[in-house]
Amino acid sequence: MTVLATSVFRPGLLDGQVALVTGGGTGIGFGISKLLAALGAHVVIASRKPAHLAQALEEITAAGGKASTVMLDVRDQERVAASVAEIVATHGRIDVLVNNAAGNFYAPSATLSPNAWRSVMEIDLYGTFYCSQAVYPIMAQQGGGRIISTSMTLHYRGWPLMAHATAAKAGVDALTRTLAVEWAPQRIRVNAIAPGPIPTEGVRKAFAPPADSGVPDVFAATERHMEAYAAKGIPLGRWGTPEDIANMVAFLASPAGDWITGSIFVIDGGEWLAKPSA
Ligand code: NAP
Repeated sequence: MTVLATSVFRPGLLDGQVALVTGGGTGIGFGISKLLAALGAHVVIASRKPAHLAQALEEITAAGGKASTVMLDVRDQERVAASVAEIVATHGRIDVLVNNAAGNFYAPSATLSPNAWRSVMEIDLYGTFYCSQAVYPIMAQQGGGRIISTSMTLHYRGWPLMAHATAAKAGVDALTRTLAVEWAPQRIRVNAIAPGPIPTEGVRKAFAPPADSGVPDVFAATERHMEAYAAKGIPLGRWGTPEDIANMVAFLASPAGDWITGSIFVIDGGEWLAKPSA
C-alpha cells in the first residue's frame, strides 16, 4: 500500500489482527484506519454516515488493504454491543479498539443547551465507555487486547467556549487510567492519544459559523495566517497531520507498546506547552 512507502513500521506488523476504529472514515480516524490496514490489520470502520464509510472503504480496499464497515452511533449502547457481537461473529476476534469518534463546536457555556452538552458528552465520553465495555469480554477471553482512546490537550489549562468537549475529554483521560489498572490482569492495555491542532474537515466545520449569521469565519481567517501561526506558535514549526497521530496508534497497537498502559500521549509538536493562555 502507498501508506507503507512513507511508514517507519514494517509491513505485516499487524497481520491477522482485527481493529475497530470509531469515526474511522474521516480526518484523524481515517489516517489511523489507513495505517492499521497498511500494516496488515483488518480494519472495521464504524460511524453514522454511509458516505463516510463507503468512501473510506473504497480507498482502503483499492490500495489493497482489508476493511469493512459498520453503521453505528456510539451513543447507542445496545447498537454498540450488537455491532461488536457482529464483528466477532464474522472475524472471531477484536485485537485493537480505537475510540476516535467525537463531536465538537464552539459555544458559550452560559447558554450551552442541555442537548448540546449531552450530545458531546455522549459521543466523546459515553461512546468511549460503551465501546470499551463492549470489547472487554472479547479481549479478556482472547488473553488481551489494546484500547486506544482519543483525547485532546485543551483541558490541561482550560479553553473558553469548549466546556462540553474539554469536560468530556478530561473524562476520557480518567477513564483511560482507571480501565488500564482495572483491566491489566486481563492483559488489556488501555492508553490515550492527545492530538494537537490537525486541520481536518471536521475541525473546519466545527468552527465555522452558521451560514448567513454575519459572524466571520474565524477558522478561515486563521487559516490565512496558519503558516505564520505554525511557525511561531508550534515549537516544531508545523501543523499536525492524521499520519502523525496514526503513527502513535500503530506503535501502541504493536508489541513495541507491550509494557505501556494507562498513558496519555500528547502529539502536538510542543503546542500546548508553548501556547499563550486563552
Ligand atoms: P472528524 O473528521 O469530524 O472526525 C469525527 C468522526 O467521528 C467522524 O468520522 C464522524 O463520522 C464520527 N462520529 C461523530 N459522531 C459520531 C457518533 N455519534 N457515532 C459514531 N461516529 C461518530 O474530526 P477529527 O478532527 O478527525 O477528530 C478525530 C478525533 O480527534 C476526535 O476524537 C477529536 O476530538 C480528536 N482531536 C482532534 C483534533 C484536531 O485538531 N483535529 C485535536 C484534538 C483532538 P460520522 O459523521 O460518519 O458519524
